[in-house]
Amino acid sequence: MRIGGDHAFLTLPPFRKKSTLNLFQNLANTSTHMSPVSDINIVENAVLPAPEYLCREVPCSETQSDFVSRSRREIGNVLSGADPRLLVIIGPCSIHDVVAGHEYAQKLAELARKVGDKMLIVMRVYFEKPRTTVGWKGLIMDPHLDGSYDIPAGLKLARKFLLDVIDLGLPTATELLDPITPQYIADLICWSAIGARTSESQTHRQMASGLSMPLGIKNGTTGEIVPAINAIRAAREPQTFLGVSQQGLASAVTTRGNPNCHIILRGSDGGTNYQHEHVENTRNMLINAGLNPVIMVDCSHGNSGKNPTAQPNVFREVMEQRTGDSRSIFGLMLESNLVAGNQSFPQPLENLRYGQSITDACIGWEMTKELISSEYEKITRHEAQLKT
Ligand code: PEP
Ligand code: MN
Repeated sequence: MRIGGDHAFLTLPPFRKKSTLNLFQNLANTSTHMSPVSDINIVENAVLPAPEYLCREVPCSETQSDFVSRSRREIGNVLSGADPRLLVIIGPCSIHDVVAGHEYAQKLAELARKVGDKMLIVMRVYFEKPRTTVGWKGLIMDPHLDGSYDIPAGLKLARKFLLDVIDLGLPTATELLDPITPQYIADLICWSAIGARTSESQTHRQMASGLSMPLGIKNGTTGEIVPAINAIRAAREPQTFLGVSQQGLASAVTTRGNPNCHIILRGSDGGTNYQHEHVENTRNMLINAGLNPVIMVDCSHGNSGKNPTAQPNVFREVMEQRTGDSRSIFGLMLESNLVAGNQSFPQPLENLRYGQSITDACIGWEMTKELISSEYEKITRHEAQLKT
């Protein structure tokens, strides 16, 4: 069967049945029109279930969908200044064990409720890891952590975990890395990020322009701010690019543009950029570019010099700026887990320490709770002073 000559199969519910998936798999592997110089380095094309199929298999209820839409709106209100709360994007660098991830989410949900009148807490639920060279690429790409790249299982696991977090009443945050991934999980994401390694990529800027949730764009790994500002400008515009439809068909995708984008200062390989002069400089650059001067500071990565114990100090210092005159700071990011630090990976799975990161080092739960609670108290005292 040739794709071009048979329109009938396009009307089938795509990839609904195993037999349909097999049909596509056969088509992918038996092309008769390829030039002998093509695909020399391709070993395999393993066809994936269509996004629509997976979304039906792990569905989002109306209640869950309402929660996502309300959370996006609340985050948008913090961004616009209509909601004076502090947005805090917090959680593990990556989720590699959903049991530990769920335990973390339960603790965070309880803390989020306690501080909810001053802070809008959103959990980092990061499934895709950009690597400087090579390494484990996250739970979606390699859910069994063994290099087997069982992507359909990874996508399903990601959806289930996101729904569990939503059911705890916690808004979800993730980095979107592969431009096809959003079709599979974006309905369950309340805030997303474009990382430092991809903020200069046209592909990611185009993807951002079609995403439905507020989105943060990191400065580059060398500390450049301009590419992130250019990324915000590009993501605000309508774009047309190559993508995949909900039915899993290669498509020309046209977007409306995403009005809810902002910069994230994450430091660089060479130093930090959370201090007042960096924040003011970035604010002026945003104003000059005609953009809303709103800034999130990432307390980890370049801003902690990869030393997690530096994160609370960065957080406190940025909060002092915020209660001072830096009204452009609307949000902060922390990398936090059940257990402090990180562990090397790969290593035998049975040797992994429960609740500890296998990517970037995080602060532990006790420190997280202490930091968020004490900063909450400070905001409360400060606001009370302003009223008197
Ligand atoms: C992250 O947030 O874990 C991350 C990889 O960030 P960055 O893109 O700033 O390195
Ligand atoms: Mn990280």
